[in-house]
Parts: sequence; structure tokens; C-alpha cells
Amino acid sequence: MTLVGGIEAGGTKFVCAVGSSPDDIREEIRYPTSTPQENIQRAIDFFAEHHRTTPLAAIGIASFGPVDPDPSSPAFGYVTTTPKPHWAHTDFAGPIREAFGLPVGFDSDVNGAALGEQRWGAAQGLDTFVYLTIGTGLGGGGMVNGKLIHGLMHSEMGHITIPHDREKDPYPGWCTYHGDCWEGLACGPAIEDRWKARAETLAPDHPAWDLEAHYLALGLRTLICVVSPQRIIMGGGVMQQMHLFPKVRAETQRLLNGYIQKPQILERIDEYIVPPALGNRAGVAGALALAHEALA
Ligand code: ADP
Ligand code: ZN
Repeated sequence: MTLVGGIEAGGTKFVCAVGSSPDDIREEIRYPTSTPQENIQRAIDFFAEHHRTTPLAAIGIASFGPVDPDPSSPAFGYVTTTPKPHWAHTDFAGPIREAFGLPVGFDSDVNGAALGEQRWGAAQGLDTFVYLTIGTGLGGGGMVNGKLIHGLMHSEMGHITIPHDREKDPYPGWCTYHGDCWEGLACGPAIEDRWKARAETLAPDHPAWDLEAHYLALGLRTLICVVSPQRIIMGGGVMQQMHLFPKVRAETQRLLNGYIQKPQILERIDEYIVPPALGNRAGVAGALALAHEALA
């Protein structure tokens, strides 16, 4: 069993773990996201302690972004243009690689989570699928034909445009770049800002949820048409509201209007739009999966 290290770097917290898989996590620490110097050093200290007694084979980093995941780019391993204080243009993978001389896997948090779900969770056996997180932001990654989606950088699915009827919903949107892009209309802070109450406090029969399901389904229709995923996995804090799943599924079917004649959508949509099988371990599993990938 190959032991690896994983760093799940989120906008609010870091999780560092040592293990071989999400079912075999030997040690784990969590701490708040602050400055790169502090956060990266703490990760190095944690892995060093472990590495002395039980050597690690590789380390994976699944990071909030945007990041540069292109190994041939001079900024590979960097968090790039993030508005997050202290983190813009930060070399993240470099200091970890230098500290240990081990292979380091590096990708966006959602591409990492997608890889973890493919290895151990809801995307096993699939080669084309999407992983979305609806939380502080709205991010998406995934695979096409068995490879994580990369190109210029990585997907930024949260910033696609969806129809916004300003008469029904005058809320201008939360995104600092685009206002009412998908993330701007449907992320957790947008729900809170629109309804003046934290998403977790809104009752299941609050009108917020029908609107949320409508916005989520509009984005899914676009992704289904563009990527043709075999499955869509939806995680993140907002999707803890399990009653959203049946609403999003029904609304997606309604919006597709019978165009995609596949049983996965017409008959088995409960298995098509699903929560992460790894639950709240999906993020850290992603980091471990990126470490294994770096070895392969
Ligand atoms: P992060 O994006 O930092 O990884 P989360 O995925 O938990 O963290 O996203 C935080 C956002 O999700 C906040 O806007 C919060 O209001 C919302 N959220 C967290 N938990 C829930 C919940 N159980 N129900 C609805 N919204 C939630
Ligand atoms: Zn945007």
C-alpha cells in the first residue's frame, strides 16, 4: 500500500492528510487558510514529521484557484490571479517539492475531487464526467475521455452565463468579475446576499430553493450539451441541502425538454446527477488521488 500525502487547500481551511486512500487516512490536520508562508510551512512540518518514520511516495495538492496545472508552464504549481489576499501569484508546489524531493501532483480543487471520485467514488468506471462544488464559489472540473480537463489552464465552469430574468430575480449577482454569471447567481454567498439569510438557515420550502434549482439546472443543461458527461457529481456546502437534488434533476429534465434521448437522463436521472460518494472526504481524497497520479 503506497503511502502518500495530500493537501486540500480551500478558501477557508487547509486539510493535510497522510494515507493511501480516503478509507485509510493515517493522520490528518486542519487549519485556517491565512498566508502562503504560514500555511505551506505548516504542511511541510506535518509531512516531515511523518516522512521521518514512514516515508511518503508523493504529495498531491488540490488547491483553490485559479491555479496553473500545466507542467510545461513557468508558473506550474502556482496559485495565479486569485483575489484572495496574500495568495496571488504564489508558488505552492515548488516549496513542497524542494522540501521533500518527491513527485508532487498539483491541480484545482475540483479537478482533484473529480480524480478522487473516479478512483474511489461516484465516477468509477467513467471517462467523461463533471464534478461541481457549490459553496463559497461555484467551481467545476472533471474528465473528458479519461483525462482531467486541461487546456489553457483548467475549466472555469462557474463563470458561464446563464439566463437571468431580472423581473423575477432583480439580484445583480455576486461575482466580482461578471456580476450575474452562474457563480454570481447560485453560489452560497449569492443566496445569502439575495435573501439576507445564510443558506443553511433557509427552510426547505423557502422560495430560494426553487430559484436555486432553476439556476443550477440552467448551468447543467449547458454542461450536458457541451461536455456530454456520463454523470454529474454535485458537492459543496449548498448541496448539503439534499432536497435540492430531486428539484435540480426534475428541472434539468424539464429544461432539456427531451432533446437528449438517453435513459441516463430520461429514466435514471437519480443516478446521473448525484452527490459525491466520498461525501466530505471528496476534497482530501482528491489531493491523495493527485499524489498517486504524480507517481503513475
Ligand atoms: P468552501 O466553499 O469554503 O469549501 P463550503 O462548500 O461549505 O465551503 O461553502 C460555504 C458556503 O456554503 C456558504 O455560503 C454557506 O452558507 C453554504 N453552506 C454551507 N453549509 C450549508 C448547508 N448545510 N446548507 C446550505 N448552505 C450551506
Ligand atoms: Zn463570474
